Amino acid sequence: MQNEVTWVRTHCARMDHGGCALLVGVKDNTIVGVKGDPDGYLNRGYLCPKGLASPDRLTHPDRLRHPLKRIGTRGEGKWKRISWPDAIKEIADRFNDIKEQYGARAVTFGQGMPKGMEHFVLIRLGNVFGTPNIIGLQDVCHAPREITGVHTCGFYPVADFHQPSKLVILWASNITSTNEEGEINTLLTNQIKKGTELIVIDPRKIDLAQKAQYWLQLRPGTDNALALSFLHVIIEEKLYDREFVENWTHGFDALAEHVKQYTPERMSDVTWVEPALVRKAARLYATSPPAAIQWGNPIEHTINTFHATRALICLMAITGNLDVPGGNIQANEPDILGLASFARGELLPSKRKEMIHAYSHTIPRLMTVPPAYFKKAVLEHDPYPVKGAYIQCANPILSYADSRRTYDALMNLEFLAVADIVMTPTAALADIVLPAATQFEFNDIGHYGLGHGYILARPKVVDPPEECWPDIKILNELGKAMTGEQHWYDDYNQLLEEVLQPAGLTFKEFTEQGYLKGPDKFKKYLQKGFRTPTGKVELALSQAEKFGLPPLPTFDGLPEDDGSDYPLVLTSSKSQYYLHSSYRWVQRLREKRPHPKAELHPLTAEKYGIKEGDELIIETRFGKISQVAHITDIVDPRVVNASHGWWFPEAGPESLFGWQKSNLNILTSTDKLGKEFGTPNLKAIGCKIWRK
Ligand code: SF4
Repeated sequence: MQNEVTWVRTHCARMDHGGCALLVGVKDNTIVGVKGDPDGYLNRGYLCPKGLASPDRLTHPDRLRHPLKRIGTRGEGKWKRISWPDAIKEIADRFNDIKEQYGARAVTFGQGMPKGMEHFVLIRLGNVFGTPNIIGLQDVCHAPREITGVHTCGFYPVADFHQPSKLVILWASNITSTNEEGEINTLLTNQIKKGTELIVIDPRKIDLAQKAQYWLQLRPGTDNALALSFLHVIIEEKLYDREFVENWTHGFDALAEHVKQYTPERMSDVTWVEPALVRKAARLYATSPPAAIQWGNPIEHTINTFHATRALICLMAITGNLDVPGGNIQANEPDILGLASFARGELLPSKRKEMIHAYSHTIPRLMTVPPAYFKKAVLEHDPYPVKGAYIQCANPILSYADSRRTYDALMNLEFLAVADIVMTPTAALADIVLPAATQFEFNDIGHYGLGHGYILARPKVVDPPEECWPDIKILNELGKAMTGEQHWYDDYNQLLEEVLQPAGLTFKEFTEQGYLKGPDKFKKYLQKGFRTPTGKVELALSQAEKFGLPPLPTFDGLPEDDGSDYPLVLTSSKSQYYLHSSYRWVQRLREKRPHPKAELHPLTAEKYGIKEGDELIIETRFGKISQVAHITDIVDPRVVNASHGWWFPEAGPESLFGWQKSNLNILTSTDKLGKEFGTPNLKAIGCKIWRK
């Protein structure tokens, strides 16, 4: 008798933050189909090309299937298979040796974009082991928005797509192509169909720009300048919400005086946006309540990110769009275990003072160490030596700014262990490589700790290959070996039960429910005020001096100096077919986007004698790479839009999978960092191009 296909409900993951509800067809422990769940809380049946291809990872021939130990020199590509007990013992012994010799803080734990519970289990392992140093990319991804939010209004304001908005601004957020923390395009596109107006602010004419009332094609990296011009117009024309400003803001007069200088006319030299268009867009935003700003990652990709995010929150506040339905809200978490308790934060009370970057006087509250400071500690022992690293769900050689320095740092570690699904340029430098299970192969909770007010059930659908372990299982076992039994379990699934316990749910019950969200509550400030020192939205920061922060958002110049040697402005964008540096090895996706594409305007192409499909050299002050020219008028003639995250699995381990050829981070540097978050310039860098 033949087995039937069973359709299992779960949520997408690891192709990005994940959020789309899926129906997964399973037969004989194998996935035979995947489709969007029409009842999905966020996606209503939507599925992107990555989601569609996601089961291909499980059966891929290149998948790592056994723990490996390096036997040649580092990076030589010579390995021997070892057992899991031996791998766990070796990692635990080596890290404990480093701890004994240099102290626990010389051991670091690194994570790429958080995918599920693994990030928080990693932080717990750090805390229990005694190191404050979790390395992450928060400096270029979300910390600026979240932490600036906490300083300015006491919370991280997220766009509320669950209630109708009159207007939405997509500010550097290409939401039909990349999923901004589960704010998948479905909810917004449904609203647009019902009449919600749209403003798009993006250096590229993204798809949704066609549907927008206004598209502002700003010069890459000038978001702070443009936001300050918006503030100028709204305050000058008295379009702000007077009642809210009077009762609930601190420092309005100082801000009003300060932004007088940022006229759209004066700033248009910087932003390249027509002053009349800035005025129209600012007026529309201020007069269309409720209005939400969906802010995307690129505002966090220059040294000026603190000012950009500050100015944007000031905009949300003075227009009365903070914490109102359809505006930018403080999402309310469901009744689950808080992050600090889960991560055992109490075990390391000195953490914030001891983290590597704290010695550079960055803004308080950064939960992870910005990579630039991690590398400095490894290479220069500044502020203290770092000797060991464990890296999961990450490929730092591609994803950290200044790839060559990242390579040097990893090569200089005394011990490096990496867990991943396939061999990557980073894993190829490790002493021990661990084969991780991928989504569909273990129970997980999605969106925990992301501040969006809900968590998603991701039940296991099929068994992993025998020796592929979920990251949370690896960490649970490492925890026992490195730190003793106390904070760990016989069965790692108990970690998930811990999170759900306050809600009175087991993981099984949670799975049946599908997701768990907090209550809808708005304008909470009416009861308790804002959670800032003044109880109001701090347009001017009341404790700026204490934290060494500028009190008002400013524009002090372009992220990088203009230079005649590098006449074009380099920016980059993500592809809908990949997640950062992941999945070039998934054939179905690679067929859709086989090469790293660099977008040029037709006038630029003509000027430099470049044709569609030509191999192109892109050079900045820091290095040069090649990508493939794509000629399109969606970019400004002064801009080159390159692709991010490219390596070539087919190039083999001899060249470390071609990590230098087309890798955008060969073109970036960590010489200049934003003081608040340690953010380097990933965009707005002067470049030149020529045909190879
Ligand atoms: S948008 Fe993200 S969560 Fe949705 S299917 Fe695509 S990869 Fe998965």
